[in-house]
Amino acid sequence: MAVLRLPSLLCLLLLSIFTTTSAFLPLIIGSRAIVRRMATAATPKSELPKDEGGWRAILNPNQFAILRQKATEPGGYSESTPGALEYELKKAFKTKNPKEGVYTCVGCGAPLYKASTKFDSGCGWPAFFQGIEGAIKEVPDADGRRVEIVCANCDGHLGHVFKNEGFSNPTNERHCVNGICLRYDPAV
Ligand SMILES: [Zn+2]
Repeated sequence: MAVLRLPSLLCLLLLSIFTTTSAFLPLIIGSRAIVRRMATAATPKSELPKDEGGWRAILNPNQFAILRQKATEPGGYSESTPGALEYELKKAFKTKNPKEGVYTCVGCGAPLYKASTKFDSGCGWPAFFQGIEGAIKEVPDADGRRVEIVCANCDGHLGHVFKNEGFSNPTNERHCVNGICLRYDPAV
């Protein structure tokens, strides 16, 4: 009997491992999606949502709050929160600044920043010294002091750009971008 029981127990054990793994699979995929290769063609302006309900249907609440309502993620959020951009980059690539690839807009898929322009500013948000040509629009912030940056394709709020702060990068600019607005594509 003992000989017969062993395979049964083994099967049960394997089955339980399999079902446990299956149950968590969507979560694992969900947390890694931020750095998985996606179809990165930008949604044409004519096909973008026309109202708040349309945007809420394709963005999660945090993405909606930032891109459409100009909220700001907490400092350090991207690097310290599982599922967030820089946290997942460090997990997948052992660095939050991989040199290959491109960052795209989570609202419309437009390529916004080359990975080679990302740098560590120490400010608590993802930082870039240059947007892809024509991809970023600069507009005066409502606060009358700062310069807001938005996606030129979907007008989604990204963050702010600060100039002449003394960073030793090619432009002396810091595009301070909410990580929630970006998706990383390593293959572009
Ligand atoms: Zn966009």
